[in-house]
Amino acid sequence: MRLSQYFLPTSKETPSEAQIVSHRLMLRAGMIRQSSAGIYSWLPLGFRALKKIESIVREEEDAAGCQEVLMPTIQPAELWKQSGRYDDYGAEMLRIKDRHDRDMLYGPTNEEQITEIFKAHIRSYKHLPKLLYHIQWKFRDEVRPRFGVMRGREFLMKDAYSFDLDYDGAVRSYRKFFVAYLRTFARMGLKAIPMQAESGPIGGDMSHEFQILADTGESKVFCHKDFLKFDPLQTDPDYNADLKPLVNRWTSLYAAADDKHDPKKCPVPADQLLEARGIEVGHIFYFGTKYSQPMGAQVDGPDGKPAIVHMGSYGIGVSRLVGAIIEASHDDSGIVWPDAVAPFRVGLINLKPGDTKTDALANDLYVKLLQAKIDVLYDDRDERAGAKFADMDLIGLPWQIVVGPRGAATGSVEIKRRKGGERQEMPADKALARVAG
Ligand code: ATP
Ligand code: MG
Repeated sequence: MRLSQYFLPTSKETPSEAQIVSHRLMLRAGMIRQSSAGIYSWLPLGFRALKKIESIVREEEDAAGCQEVLMPTIQPAELWKQSGRYDDYGAEMLRIKDRHDRDMLYGPTNEEQITEIFKAHIRSYKHLPKLLYHIQWKFRDEVRPRFGVMRGREFLMKDAYSFDLDYDGAVRSYRKFFVAYLRTFARMGLKAIPMQAESGPIGGDMSHEFQILADTGESKVFCHKDFLKFDPLQTDPDYNADLKPLVNRWTSLYAAADDKHDPKKCPVPADQLLEARGIEVGHIFYFGTKYSQPMGAQVDGPDGKPAIVHMGSYGIGVSRLVGAIIEASHDDSGIVWPDAVAPFRVGLINLKPGDTKTDALANDLYVKLLQAKIDVLYDDRDERAGAKFADMDLIGLPWQIVVGPRGAATGSVEIKRRKGGERQEMPADKALARVAG
């Protein structure tokens, strides 16, 4: 993409309405535009980052055996009356009437909708387990929308749902998501720590929030330091095998958000306890028959008798992740995208458009990057070098290749790794190989 043609409304001004760094940087980097409180449009650069994150989420859900569907944003109130949540949900739910005066709502989540689908089509235990997910916009009329996309009113969520014959089956499904979540966040360059969460009326220990550590996190969190040494990407999990040992390894260490943490009962010695702030990026949850019972989602069991199915739900804040990743990865000059979620991999800077040799080398590199299918943003604008460097640092692409008149005379360029900032001069073809690797 040529920057001269790209819609990238960057700004040097620090937006006064933004309280935290990710929100400021997203506005300054021209990633989003506020529409109303907690509701945003995604501009090209922001949308690319969102899509990158979404595809990692999708790949890991698919790998875990979860099948993608797409349910509507607008749901009939009738479904929520069946589960009893229509009255319980309160002011966070956006309630709408259609032209026939029917009660509708903009979905804050989809348990009812997916249970209705399950009930309509699945009648036998032989078709269990079923794991289904979608990636869809949600609306929650939050009391305090803030921090940009991190606590929006309209936000993109991946929500998955599991259906099993019994508790043991539900445990197996739960573990699949547990492992898939570890991998999902690690692939985005994040250290996400599973923390035991409030499990609601059913009790038990099958509820975990995945928190990433960042100074601006909304909750205070406590965990064993050894978590930082774990690497979820070390082995490829076999989702058909018993995942208990893997999950146990991660749950054997202490981790809790402040609502669950009791300093008097904390088993971790002070020198091994990490105290930090966390951003919740995912939540997995087993809730038994909470929806299947009132909505009548049952199958014929192996003994021929009807059995109410056991369910779980598993959410990831896809749009929140864009902000959360920036919170975890930025410096004074701007965003520092982890490779896997960067909107472009390379920023190519032509320092002197109009200079024949510089243009020739920069254009040649641009074409070669495109041919190699490397996402590149080519700054071919007629701008001061300083402004180009500042913009490129601000938008935080992992690699920068700088082509100037001096190097162009000998076919060499400067390459800079955004993270760490090391620069190196090298022949253009070497730079190409470096950013490809
Ligand atoms: P929170 O405690 O942050 O309000 P929640 O418990 O309401 O979260 P869930 O219902 O479990 O969240 O939703 C799943 C995921 O969706 C959360 O882990 C979070 O990443 C994301 N999420 C929830 N609310 C918002 C929001 N208002 N804006 C952006 N993302 C959100
Ligand atoms: Mg909430």
